Amino acid sequence: VWALSGRARSLRPSATVAVTSRALELKRQGVDLISLSVGEPDFDTPPHIRDAAVRAVQAGGTRYTAVSGLPELREAISEKFRRENGLTHAPDEVTVTSGGKQALFNAFFALLNPGDEVLIPAPYWVSYPEMVALTGAVPVPVPTTAGSGFVLDPEALAARITPRTRMIVLNSPGNPTGAVFPPDVLRAVADLAVRHGLMIVTDEIYEHLVYDAEQVSIGTFAPEHTLTINGASKAYAMTGWRIGYAGGPRAVIAAMNALQSQSTSNACSVSQYAALAALTEHAQTAAFVESARAAYRARRDLLVAGLNALGLPTPTPQGAFYALADTRVLHPDELEAARILLEEARVAVVPGTDFGAPGHVRLSYAAGLDTLREVLARIEGALPR
Ligand code: PLP
Repeated sequence: VWALSGRARSLRPSATVAVTSRALELKRQGVDLISLSVGEPDFDTPPHIRDAAVRAVQAGGTRYTAVSGLPELREAISEKFRRENGLTHAPDEVTVTSGGKQALFNAFFALLNPGDEVLIPAPYWVSYPEMVALTGAVPVPVPTTAGSGFVLDPEALAARITPRTRMIVLNSPGNPTGAVFPPDVLRAVADLAVRHGLMIVTDEIYEHLVYDAEQVSIGTFAPEHTLTINGASKAYAMTGWRIGYAGGPRAVIAAMNALQSQSTSNACSVSQYAALAALTEHAQTAAFVESARAAYRARRDLLVAGLNALGLPTPTPQGAFYALADTRVLHPDELEAARILLEEARVAVVPGTDFGAPGHVRLSYAAGLDTLREVLARIEGALPR
């Protein structure tokens, strides 16, 4: 008889599924629910990017591309890395993927063997430990604290390095914390990677959504030890287009391309032309990014001040569009707290369980100010008196 693979069975079903399916059920029943659970900009893709895609369709840009992406797009990404990140990656040290997610997936499969240990600051984006585990490697969380704004302590990282450690995964600005790691932390992590011969995989997909902090690419400190992941989804409001990319050592990029050649072949051609416009029609893209950032900042300020005032301790996120709130005043268990927010406040959030953030829930502030005001009013109504 047939059976599912050990790999498929090892994928941990999401602990948040219960909350998510209950939210869907309430929506279906017509309940007036506000969802702050998705990690997606609420803006439309800017018009100049959409127009470029339409032109590409009309001009026949509808065929397979090179596995690693259109040469002109890799050229534009190489230039973007130089201009915005101070990184030098030639076009053959760049690969284009179906979302940042696939870039990460390819990277882990290109770099990890079963039994290898991978250091991941916690709270983390749920997909890192799951993807790492799929390769047979072992995710090793490195805790951070709300007191430090969830910024990584390099000494805590160093303390977890063993002879089996192969990789460090960084995500700054981070999901779900919004933490931005300062340059001195990144430099210390880079030094550790060089000293111990580790690869750093740095997911910089939220790099443009930074408010008060300085965003620095760790690849500038340890270029031979860093693979930089990025994508179009968050910065240019292009989640559905599925364009991600990576830049790093040529051998790693070549291995990622080999994997991609036997799986998806290439990222969607039309989307690649759209991403090309996003990167080359610079002034328009920059204006969009700037206005989105200003909007997110105002939302963050409103939501975080409101949550703290309600007695839900929430460090001020320095980047991305998430706030990680301590919900223990509602219930010690975050799954239960999320359920209370859903049933009593009619607000959908994501419990921190799968993010390695017990006692917390994640709220996305990719939503309008009026919506966020309403959310705060609803949460106030659900608080114990
Ligand atoms: N990395 C982080 C931290 C994310 O939050 C996400 C999306 O939620 C991604 C990567 C993947 O984005 P995409 O595959 O749309 O590029």
